[in-house]
Amino acid sequence: MAYLKCGTVASIMENIAPKRLAENWDNVGLIIGDSSSSIKKIMVCLDLPAWVVDEAIDANVDMIITHHPIIFNPIKKISNDTALGKKIMKLIKNNISVYTSHTNFDIAQGGLNDIFARQLGFVKTNIMKTMIEEKLYKIITYVPEGFEDKVLEQMCKAGAGFIGNYSDCSFRVKGIGAFKPQQGTNPYIGEVGKLEKVNEYRVETVVPEDLLNSVIKAMHKAHPYEEVAFDIFELKNKGKSMGLGRIGHLENKVTLVSYAKFVKTTLELDKVTFSGPPEAEIKTVALLNGSGNSFISAAKFSGADVLITGDLQYHQIIDALEEGIYVIDAGHFGTEKIMIKAISDYLRTTLETLGYNAEIIESKSNIDVTMHI
Ligand SMILES: [Zn+2]
Repeated sequence: MAYLKCGTVASIMENIAPKRLAENWDNVGLIIGDSSSSIKKIMVCLDLPAWVVDEAIDANVDMIITHHPIIFNPIKKISNDTALGKKIMKLIKNNISVYTSHTNFDIAQGGLNDIFARQLGFVKTNIMKTMIEEKLYKIITYVPEGFEDKVLEQMCKAGAGFIGNYSDCSFRVKGIGAFKPQQGTNPYIGEVGKLEKVNEYRVETVVPEDLLNSVIKAMHKAHPYEEVAFDIFELKNKGKSMGLGRIGHLENKVTLVSYAKFVKTTLELDKVTFSGPPEAEIKTVALLNGSGNSFISAAKFSGADVLITGDLQYHQIIDALEEGIYVIDAGHFGTEKIMIKAISDYLRTTLETLGYNAEIIESKSNIDVTMHI
């Protein structure tokens, strides 16, 4: 079994929730810790209050993955005088690293918004508020005849060649490549000082910005030449769109009250609140896990009959009804607690596939602190 480092866990998290997707006010990534430290046990939680820190220490955890950042606003002091200072000192003293994927995990394809949408039975899902449109690049390289399939295969394995739902998309054309190796070179074909003409393929494919470096690395590894000739162009075509919130259609029309009950049962909650006529029919649903006050207009604009979210305030609920959209409030914790299982399952599967032996536990003390009587 391979030795697992904190930095490796961070990279694995980065694959499911790239940091560049986070909102600019957010604080994500490795917030406390040493990326070279050894990791044997990881705990996943939504929040990191004092009692969850104690749980992690008792459980001999080396790393904690959270959704909400432990440090959000800049701090000037770390001391035992504040609850936050105490927590940070405890975590450092106990060699516990803390990594956070927050709005980047909400926004990411397959992230928290998408998991939530699947759980609520959305048939077809669209983004409620587009925030990022992926940049695409064309990469072209020149490969001696006989190596074109191998080079393209490795580039596509590294993430090149996706157009919509088609993978391994490429184009190739045969031609003559010419070069003269200079002193100090070790050419795969040809001799120093002699102009060489070789049957080559010009192969080209498309790659999204965040995978460009991995694809270039894969191309170099698979290419037989000492000096690889390649061109990269930024394309006007846009790649995948990513953003916050999801709009989905239900298979059949249902009443608001029956859908509110479904949300309560599905999310295993003690209560949900809803506003709107109980017997009103709904078919198009918007969701945003966490705090959705500022998404009421976006939900209405997207054609939703109802918005499911958390943390709704009295005046915003009235505004929503005036705008002609109903709301279901399933709570901040209620709409985000699914993150704990989702990230735990993802880490277990990925670490096992990569051959790492680390234990993943889900926090038991990170519960909804709001009681209902
Ligand atoms: Zn949240």
